[in-house]
Amino acid sequence: MSKNVLVLGEAREGELRNVSFEAIAAAKQIAGGGTITGLLIGDSVENLAQEMVQYGADRVITVEHADLKQYTSDGYSQAFMAVYEQESPDAVVMGHTALGKDLSPKIASKLGSGLISDVTAIEGEGDDAEFIRPIYSGKAFEKVKNKEGLLFFTIRPNNIEPLEKDGSRSGDVSSVSVEITNLRSIIADVVRKASEGVDLSEAKVIVAGGRGVKSEDGFKPLEELAELLGGAVGASRGACDADYCDYSLQIGQTGKVVTPDLYIAIGISGAIQHMAGMSNSKIIVAINKDPEANIFKVADYGIVGDLFEVMPILIEEVKKLKSTQTV
Ligand code: FAD
Repeated sequence: MSKNVLVLGEAREGELRNVSFEAIAAAKQIAGGGTITGLLIGDSVENLAQEMVQYGADRVITVEHADLKQYTSDGYSQAFMAVYEQESPDAVVMGHTALGKDLSPKIASKLGSGLISDVTAIEGEGDDAEFIRPIYSGKAFEKVKNKEGLLFFTIRPNNIEPLEKDGSRSGDVSSVSVEITNLRSIIADVVRKASEGVDLSEAKVIVAGGRGVKSEDGFKPLEELAELLGGAVGASRGACDADYCDYSLQIGQTGKVVTPDLYIAIGISGAIQHMAGMSNSKIIVAINKDPEANIFKVADYGIVGDLFEVMPILIEEVKKLKSTQTV
């Protein structure tokens, strides 16, 4: 049976986040030829609608309101529900991002539906689709199938490949006007802690430092390597607790969960709580002076050595490779 799927796109600072395109690809896989409708919520999002179409959406609905400039669960759920009631989709997809993690349970409870959260892969297509999601902090995976009713799932960023962008595609864009009422909270201000540059949760390359980095200054070579590789800097809680870097960089059970193509763990022991946030990375490289460090159990490549000796060599080699245009 074909399914009409509603896909919530996410924008940040006027640009769509990659997870929006990944969600469209996931929607296509389960739609069985049904219509993919993108949904954009914010104070000014209409200009982003055609990009959702170029990544595979058939049409896009926007909900614009001054009170939707910043995400609040009250505001977004009112906007979402208005569109949901108009469209009655068979399936809903959103990113397992900070926004999606907050909004999806609220919506599922309003709809009385199930929710398959944090999906990292989909096997099969259409009605046969099975959803893979990590459990027990990534120590095991389970396969879930929707039995009946609304199919509602969230996808972990960086796991499902988006479709190729087709600049020649165009689709219908319509708007739904919603009265936003009874907001129990408003965001007065947002103070950014993370540095400019690549978003940690969507980075393809992450260079992460631990307590072994020894100081705030010790993070400088990691920043240099991350920049050379077009990636982002992350950290263990050990490094955050020691005040070497901001908690916004923390990866792990109580930090961000990331799945980059390349994760370079530097001076990180590999505590279970850290691995919960990075062990699904596609390639893991560890640099640690202790050959028994736990991180080597998940590493594809390991360098046993003093990071203060290894890092300058690594940076030099990357620079050389870059100068010959092979990186
Ligand atoms: P350490 O364990 O101190 O490891 C430092 C490593 O650096 C060692 O392996 C050492 O051999 C190596 N090293 C030292 N000097 C050098 C050198 N010169 N060259 C090379 N290697 C060197 N942790 C997280 O990361 N994320 C979380 O989300 C998280 N959540 C937690 C939640 C709970 C409820 C609890 C109890 C703990 C949590 N932790 C989390 C903490 C976790 O248990 C570890 O304490 C923490 O990950 C350790 O950080 P680390 O590996 O940087 O430090």
